[in-house]
Amino acid sequence: MKITGVELRRIAMPLVAPFRTSFGTETSRDILLVRVVTPDAEGWGECVAMSGPLYSSEYVDGAAEVIRRFLLPRLPRTLDAQDVGRALEPIKGHRMAKAAVETAVLDAQLRAAGQSFGRFLGAARTRVPCGVSVGIMDSVPQLLDAVAGFIDEGYVRIKLKIEPGWDVEPVRAVRERFGDDLLLQVDANAAYSLTDARHLARLDPFDLLLIEQPLANDDLVQHAKLATQLRTPVCLDESIESAEHAAAAIALGSCSIINIKPGRIGGYLEARRIHDLCRANGVAVWCGGMLETGLGRAANVALAALPGFTLPGDTSGSRRYYATDVTEPFELADGHLEVPAGPGLGVEPIPAVLDEVTTATEWITL
Ligand SMILES: [Mg+2]
Repeated sequence: MKITGVELRRIAMPLVAPFRTSFGTETSRDILLVRVVTPDAEGWGECVAMSGPLYSSEYVDGAAEVIRRFLLPRLPRTLDAQDVGRALEPIKGHRMAKAAVETAVLDAQLRAAGQSFGRFLGAARTRVPCGVSVGIMDSVPQLLDAVAGFIDEGYVRIKLKIEPGWDVEPVRAVRERFGDDLLLQVDANAAYSLTDARHLARLDPFDLLLIEQPLANDDLVQHAKLATQLRTPVCLDESIESAEHAAAAIALGSCSIINIKPGRIGGYLEARRIHDLCRANGVAVWCGGMLETGLGRAANVALAALPGFTLPGDTSGSRRYYATDVTEPFELADGHLEVPAGPGLGVEPIPAVLDEVTTATEWITL
């Protein structure tokens, strides 16, 4: 079965509410979808790159350019995702672009074989517990209202985005209002430096599950130093772009938990490698999110069902971000999402919805 062509499709997805992190505020997502076509099956990959290079160096226009100019000419025509990473290896970095291409190939391959992502990856559960990421708010009362709403919806874990000036007080307020049993963690998106260690240690009394990416993306050594000064476990997100980075972080003691985002690290095969490495080293992992539509969410939920994913992920329901998803919406039941069981991603874009949100398409014959 040969790949005959690839469609690059851009969609514009308004968010139900602005999402503010330490690096900026998003009000809508400009998303690149990759569709791989063969005579028997087609597959989808969602690129997680944002409009600007703020979370990492990648951005959506750049990802589209890298895919069309450098990745697709090297893409093997045979439908085997295992070959994709090796073929694209000479192209440095651009893991979000590579992940979108590899995921589309894997989806087509699994749909053709009648196998689900969960089965292929080694899912050990049929549903996964879900947490939610709560952005930085204008005030603590506004934050408490938002958190109360998510708890009412059934989310089993709350993550607060933090930055200097919005850390100890909001964490204290949420802990006091919702009690010691609430699973609570924070994410700084690299907003601090090692000189903030004593300040960050003020979060220790609140028994957080973890503090995510407190320091800069390339600061593995400083994260190791910080970890010795905090009781709160350090988790890395942006710093880990490959299994090699994960191995280095574990060896250095830079973190005791890793947030695996397949879109950030080059795809689901690398995600499984990091999962296996962490499991062998007693490092807990969980599945992060990049405000994916149902297409990206489906694969993330499958990944989060692997046995080493021992902490709830940011695998929220569709309506956390989008009033109308491009697939049938993912809906929370008892704080969990069902792992799709159908072939490939197990979900399909709804043609009318997809057309409505599409801003551009480009067909590339291979
Ligand atoms: Mg993060």
